Amino acid sequence: MNTYVERVLQELKEKNGHEKEFIQAVEEVLTSTSIVFDLHPLYEQKAILERLVEPERSIQFKVPWMDDHGRYHVNRGYRVQFNSALGPYKGGLRFHPSVNLGILKFLGFEQIFKNALTTLPIGGGKGGSDFDPKGKSDEEIMRFCQSFMTELYRHIGPDTDVPAGDMGVGAREVGFLYGYYKRLQGMTQPGVFTGKGVGYGGSLVRKEATGYGLVYFVQEMLKANGFGNYKPRVVISGSGNVAIYAAEKALQSGWKVIAMSDSKGYIIDEHLDLNWIKQIKEVERRSLSYYPNYAGHGEYHEGSLYDAHINYDIALPCATQNEIDGIRARNMYACGCRLVAEGANMPSNQEAIDVYMTNGILYGPGKAANAGGVATSALEMAQNSMRLMWSSEEVDARLHDIMIQIHEQCVQACLKYGIDPRNYLVGANIAGLERVIDAMMAQGDY
Ligand code: NDP
Repeated sequence: MNTYVERVLQELKEKNGHEKEFIQAVEEVLTSTSIVFDLHPLYEQKAILERLVEPERSIQFKVPWMDDHGRYHVNRGYRVQFNSALGPYKGGLRFHPSVNLGILKFLGFEQIFKNALTTLPIGGGKGGSDFDPKGKSDEEIMRFCQSFMTELYRHIGPDTDVPAGDMGVGAREVGFLYGYYKRLQGMTQPGVFTGKGVGYGGSLVRKEATGYGLVYFVQEMLKANGFGNYKPRVVISGSGNVAIYAAEKALQSGWKVIAMSDSKGYIIDEHLDLNWIKQIKEVERRSLSYYPNYAGHGEYHEGSLYDAHINYDIALPCATQNEIDGIRARNMYACGCRLVAEGANMPSNQEAIDVYMTNGILYGPGKAANAGGVATSALEMAQNSMRLMWSSEEVDARLHDIMIQIHEQCVQACLKYGIDPRNYLVGANIAGLERVIDAMMAQGDY
């Protein structure tokens, strides 16, 4: 490994050792792009990596709120404004009990390169809270969102920082957050938030964009590797926003989706009915265990989908980070899986990635494969600035084109450095990193 990369990683571990997901994300990017630093010694003189791994700003604040029984609760809110070399900070808000500064630094760091890959003018950021929206009433969610925004509003704006949804933050939460932002600012600025409802400034196809984009990316991977017409058997972990619309586009593409999961278990069904999954997860917000009763077919099992022994070609992890370790990756290979593309951020740990690489499993990393969501958020910002609304067909066509371009950038970055073009991990990291470093170098020593 390049000695500069090695030194920066060592210093990072000494300073941030307790933030294990953040260290994991930085280590994955820097070790896979070591060759770039061999060829550009100037980057060390300019301390480019030291500047890149430190967020420009991390904001932490108190979020007190009252439940329906009049009891007070206090959560922590955060916004990590990681890198603005390419444009305003852009990245979602996550509400989940596991949220802490280290998780948001990992997500914000990944977001920088993902946003760079879209080629759109957006920097990287991420935020959220350790608040758990599960089981809360709409009124409790609203009071929490309003308290959260009471602090966040002073740090965001259409030209500075534009949040969106992520885990636990869907259309309902974005509506409450945006509504309160408007009240506090006394003006309407639709470009300050993306993922808004289509009735008040949202973009058509934003809800579907991450899942659809993931499938568009996989289609490019299949084409580039000689399997363009193949109709694979697919499993998808998660049954939230990303997973549901990945399943929808996969089914529309004539692929067979045979399993999906949630945080407690998974369903297997050779005749999967996505309408029932939408009803259970989007409307009723319940467990997938209800699926066999509702649909009248399929089986439900507790535990991880990736421990199951079933036959499939493609896995699309769309739930959460570090869902797949080396043992699960080996089981996936034994199940016949030959392509993994990530709808979630960092669902595969390093051991899992090593298993993919050594067994020739094609691997589409999240920062490339799930970039369709943020790309369509940038399209929403563009529509808001122009006071225009594009048709579904137009947004979808642009999304499709962006995913084709992201795939092409990964391939070209590999070819430039003499690396196997099927190595999407290295391709995505180099393509994203080069764009950000070029912009940082051009803008002086910030
Ligand atoms: P949602 O909150 O809509 O859905 C998350 C899903 O993951 C739910 O089905 C949830 O189950 C499941 N889940 C949560 N924790 C676990 C766990 N430990 N094991 C297994 N399943 C789990 O989130 P999104 O769909 O928006 O996001 C999913 C992933 O995609 C995240 O990594 C996010 O960062 C990433 N992403 C999202 C984008 C977007 O546009 N929304 C854009 C790019 C990336 P349950 O229903 O039981 O809670």
